[in-house]
Amino acid sequence: YTQAKALVYSKYGEPKDVLRLHKHSISAPHGTQVNLRLLTAPMNPADVNQIQGPAAVGGNEGAFEVISTGAGVKNLSKGDWVIMKRTGQGTWRTHAQLDESQLIRIEDKEGLTPLQVGTVSVNPVTAYRMIRDFCQWDMMRTGEEWLIQNGANSGVGRAAIQLGREWGIKTLNVIRQRNSPEETDAMKQELKDLGATAVVTEEELLSGGFRDMVKEITRQGREPIRLALNCVGGKNATALAKTLAPDSHMVTYGAMSKQPVALPSGLLIFKNLAFDGFWVSRWGDKNPQLKENTIKDVLQLTRAGRFKDIPVDDVKWNWNTEGPVLAESVQGTLGGFRSGKGVFTF
Ligand code: NDP
Repeated sequence: YTQAKALVYSKYGEPKDVLRLHKHSISAPHGTQVNLRLLTAPMNPADVNQIQGPAAVGGNEGAFEVISTGAGVKNLSKGDWVIMKRTGQGTWRTHAQLDESQLIRIEDKEGLTPLQVGTVSVNPVTAYRMIRDFCQWDMMRTGEEWLIQNGANSGVGRAAIQLGREWGIKTLNVIRQRNSPEETDAMKQELKDLGATAVVTEEELLSGGFRDMVKEITRQGREPIRLALNCVGGKNATALAKTLAPDSHMVTYGAMSKQPVALPSGLLIFKNLAFDGFWVSRWGDKNPQLKENTIKDVLQLTRAGRFKDIPVDDVKWNWNTEGPVLAESVQGTLGGFRSGKGVFTF
């Protein structure tokens, strides 16, 4: 038997109120089952939004190490690193028992960290698919076309910046103003270091001068903005849509401001813009092989040093860590202006 603890919820509510630590034991693995030990699992905003339904373990992604395997297991062995094929399996737990068919083995784990493996399947995959699947990819002219995005300092935003850089797509990035001009400049520089072509604040985006600014950086529209990635909603999203070239797409994947997306009718009528949504869980369930390939591709870039880690706030989870301490760290996830994403390491 392996002793295990899991952060579970049985009703919807604030993480600090509804998450509790559940202790249980896991039997030796039978047949094609494998027993796993947690390495790293992040606390994504989406995880908090999803805390609902009957009792379940929180968390949608993470890196685990195989600690034992059933007699029928073919493709995994002790010491391997794995991630879960699907979201919604519950990753905020010290140990787990799953069938090998539900796991993706990380080949060539040398050169990768648990953090990189544990955060690859949600945010980078979301950025990757939104860029590849919602613009006329084959028609994009390398180095002469743009995407615009808000929430640019988020995990998804940082991934989009780096993939854009790799693929020759210029990125116009919107962040929220920090507490001081110096901090704002530092954040702009941080994103430029990742490969952002331009970074502006939400204030600049919403200001009267933004139109001219866009004209200038896109060479009077000769370098069209073909795609908008919307993580925020509200006025911010409307302002992104207004910068798009005719026939472009805006993909909404987050709603951090909790404000609805308002679309000026003219953009639909005269510019024929298309407005889509993307949900990586649903996409991944429909396209399991493509998801695996996408993950491999990102990890390849990571190994090559071309895909940088997100800033994190490490939460050490050891056997004696109390439930409320863990629940409190989940609570902070939707707070905004955080220095890094919360990540459980065991
Ligand atoms: P991170 O935790 O890495 O970043 C959160 C981002 O949200 C930061 O850019 C933060 O900006 C911004 N933010 C927080 N509060 C607000 C607010 N009130 N108004 C505007 N911006 C705000 O997040 P992830 O990259 O993991 O996720 C970002 C969003 O994408 C979430 O909404 C998440 O649910 C969604 N998502 C959706 C997926 C899908 O499949 N649809 C998949 C992955 C993520 P600041 O630093 O200024 O606070």
